[in-house]
Amino acid sequence: MAGRILIVDDVATNRIMLKVRLTGACYDVVQADSGRDALMIARLERPNLILLNHDLPDMNGASVCEALCKDPMTRGIPVVMTVAQTDKDARITALRAGAEDYLTKPFDEMTLLARVRSLLRARETENELRMRDDTSRELGFAEATPVFVNPAIVALVGDNRDSIAWKAGLGALGHHHRVNVVAQEDALAWPAPGSPAETTAVGTAAQTPDIFVISGDLNNPDEGLRLLSELRSRPATRHAGIIMALRQDAAQQAVIALDLGANDLMSGAFDAEELKLRIDALAVRKRRSDQLRNSVRDRLRQAMQDPLTSLYNRRYAFTHLARISDHSRNSGNSFAVMMLDIDRFKQVNDTWGHQIGDQVLCAVAKRLQENMRDVDLVARIGGEEFLVAMPDTDIEQARRAAERLRSLVEEVPVLAGPDVPPIHVTLSIGVSMGGQCEGENTHPEGLLKQADMALYASKNQGRNTVSFNLSAA
Ligand code: GH3
Ligand code: MG
Ligand code: MG
Repeated sequence: MAGRILIVDDVATNRIMLKVRLTGACYDVVQADSGRDALMIARLERPNLILLNHDLPDMNGASVCEALCKDPMTRGIPVVMTVAQTDKDARITALRAGAEDYLTKPFDEMTLLARVRSLLRARETENELRMRDDTSRELGFAEATPVFVNPAIVALVGDNRDSIAWKAGLGALGHHHRVNVVAQEDALAWPAPGSPAETTAVGTAAQTPDIFVISGDLNNPDEGLRLLSELRSRPATRHAGIIMALRQDAAQQAVIALDLGANDLMSGAFDAEELKLRIDALAVRKRRSDQLRNSVRDRLRQAMQDPLTSLYNRRYAFTHLARISDHSRNSGNSFAVMMLDIDRFKQVNDTWGHQIGDQVLCAVAKRLQENMRDVDLVARIGGEEFLVAMPDTDIEQARRAAERLRSLVEEVPVLAGPDVPPIHVTLSIGVSMGGQCEGENTHPEGLLKQADMALYASKNQGRNTVSFNLSAA
């Protein structure tokens, strides 16, 4: 995954040295020698990353960085500020101005390349998510980075002295995050997202952290790296933001940490403000990618799911039925298609109101779902109409299943709320069979039509009945 990198430095030899290293790693390099030039070239060339020297003849790096962040054309481009080893203020200014990171000169080539790789990879993932999300503009991504309104949950996993110093340092600066010191042995004990354990943990200290800050070495050398790799491999923490705190001389660890998926690094003597700035920035990025990921997931779900009953919707059902039919053609096994319609449902609405009607629909849906196999498809395909498709099923099994569903609904009235008596409803069901004999009748549309005709027959026979239509389609 190569990319285009803009090098901004007024000293030609610095630019040339960087260029040699980056082109050697297959990046496409463009250059600027002043702040104003950098702003113009960034707009024209749309680089994937900018390496920006802090000291420039016309503007300082921080103001260039701020200008890049303000311009909608360049806002999303990550900036790494290059600063002199001795210039501690410049590092903090860089992070404050919106730079993703700073690198101190002289560069360690391996660290430089690892950092570039990691930033480009992070941006790539975000872009992929964004591409999959055509509502991205509604989420505000064309606008300035949203403020992280909810406090982030931050876990500090250092050796004992580190964590306590980090927490005290952050506390003294004031911040709105929820910061906990977490022992190394507890750092992996988080419930998976959406699991019952996570739901009950909400609001407690056990809630899965958004951000981990981890020492490279914990009780043993490199143990922090192992923890990082474990966290990245587990569902609960796969998407967490991770900041690794490394010793000044741990260039090798830095490279490994970035390649293992650390989002950010801190090295050398601890600086509370630096940690706070890094946590703030990572919290914003984490929130942004969570939003994107959730929105992609929600839209996928919406595309397949009926919002009232949470059953599959009509669109999904018809697509899936085609798959069941293909499967039958390959396996030679027959399958059943059922149309189910609640009898005289209009009366339920007329008597109890639409809202209670909805409750009845949900209760019937739940009963259908809970009484079918996992491999069976249960879907809501219309107002009070459902579709059930049963792969690898013969006519006798289909008859028994349809009878079971019919009597389950008939026998137990629905409790739709405290203010209404139990409501009796019944189902009429029409069944057709696919792939009964070799080469015969697996076409989903024909089967749906047949099942519909069988349903019509059930209605005509007085409802609360199962009918079959076995004529060849
Ligand atoms: P039949 O036995 O012939 O099926 O009679 P029916 O009353 O069930 O059939 P009809 O097609 O005349 O009426 C279906 C009713 O289902 C009409 C409509 O108000 C109701 N309905 C459709 N969708 C919903 C819904 O989402 N919620 C509620 N509460 N009612 C719905
Ligand atoms: Mg009906
Ligand atoms: Mg109907």
